[in-house]
Amino acid sequence: MNEILVKNAEVLVTMDNARRELAGADVLLRDGVIAAVGVGLATVGRVIDARGCVVTPGLVNTHHHLYQTLTRAVPGGQDALLFGWLKTLYPIWARFGPEEIFTSAQVGLAELALTGCSMTSDHLYMYPNGARLDDTIAAAGEVGLRFHPTRGAMSIGESDGGLPPDALVEREAAILEDCIRVVDRFHDRAEGAMVRVGIAPCSPFSVSRDLMRDAALLARDKGVMLHTHLAENDEDIAYSLEKLGCRPGQYAEDLGWVGDDVWHAHCVKLDGQEIDLFARTGTGVAHCPCSNCRLGSGIAPVRAMRDAGVKVGLGVDGSASNDAGNLVAEARQAMLLQRVTRGADAMSAREALEIATLGGARVLGRKDCGSIAVGKRADIAIWDVSGIEAAGSWDPVAFLLAGPMRVRDLIVEGREVVRGGAMVTIDLGRVVARQNQLARRLME
Ligand SMILES: [Zn+2]
Repeated sequence: MNEILVKNAEVLVTMDNARRELAGADVLLRDGVIAAVGVGLATVGRVIDARGCVVTPGLVNTHHHLYQTLTRAVPGGQDALLFGWLKTLYPIWARFGPEEIFTSAQVGLAELALTGCSMTSDHLYMYPNGARLDDTIAAAGEVGLRFHPTRGAMSIGESDGGLPPDALVEREAAILEDCIRVVDRFHDRAEGAMVRVGIAPCSPFSVSRDLMRDAALLARDKGVMLHTHLAENDEDIAYSLEKLGCRPGQYAEDLGWVGDDVWHAHCVKLDGQEIDLFARTGTGVAHCPCSNCRLGSGIAPVRAMRDAGVKVGLGVDGSASNDAGNLVAEARQAMLLQRVTRGADAMSAREALEIATLGGARVLGRKDCGSIAVGKRADIAIWDVSGIEAAGSWDPVAFLLAGPMRVRDLIVEGREVVRGGAMVTIDLGRVVARQNQLARRLME
């Protein structure tokens, strides 16, 4: 039996059905599951003192391209809109191989862990020089995060009128074959799964209509989730109207890309009808506020989505468009963006925290994660609110979105991943050094 007792939290934010916040409370974790929540609990195992800390469920990241940690702040892409930004970066990404994919994933995953994230999705849509989805899954296994990698794909290269260079696209038959391989090899349907695989053609403008439809059929056949980019900015909408003959929502609906097993990244430009469609069908949204600001894409109508009943989670998006991968900062940005358009009461800190935890878990179809309640998985973030930033704070929970940008401790599936603000699962110094070496090689 493996137990950890998190004791004496200043506030324990449960995100349970009653959204209880418990002062001076403890959580007992046993064999990867939350065994008890209350006051004065005891254990035979290890005790983590959470005095002066807010304890929350681990945050959930619903959209990322981990490989992009190797192309942060690339000069040609710093000030470009989405399509120009992609064109700058594609030739650099075409030089990646398995080691670049593995190391950049470790960096991205560690960055997420240090900012309180216990579960993340990843969208890998290019496989140059022998790279495979397996490389990111190996990285996540070492870092220790709960991982939902998605087998992305691009099939329409420049010579066919698409955006990516031909070197980065694959044949559609080979894409589907590899989707089947990775689902059969890695997807775990069991409760508490550490790896669940999704299928994720990159976007409607980089694969054919046939592949979008076949991917949806395959995902339904295999019982796995579907993910892609949708309605990201005005260029994206214009492309959809001109080349696909309809708005993105219509395109998604026609090809089987709505439902409880689908989530779309961005959705900045969804209109009222599309919001209703998503709400009606249980389709999820990965809201990526920093990336949307960074690329000047706009402000996603998250208030309207939530009011309509759309499932919304947060995404840091790739580090080439953020350039950070800090999930708690993303929650703050989500709150600020709704307020700047709709007023100070448009989104509370607590709602932003709910989107960052429970919201993300729902988007990824994880009923077993996202809250601190008996029987849920033992994914816990412990935030130190005793430092200078918090001095004078009247409400440690609301303060969480203004203060600590890093977690003190992170536990995933009952296993410590971060302790005292440092990674315990990997040698971070060595990983960062290797990443910088690889980045220098790409700059040559
Ligand atoms: Zn993205």
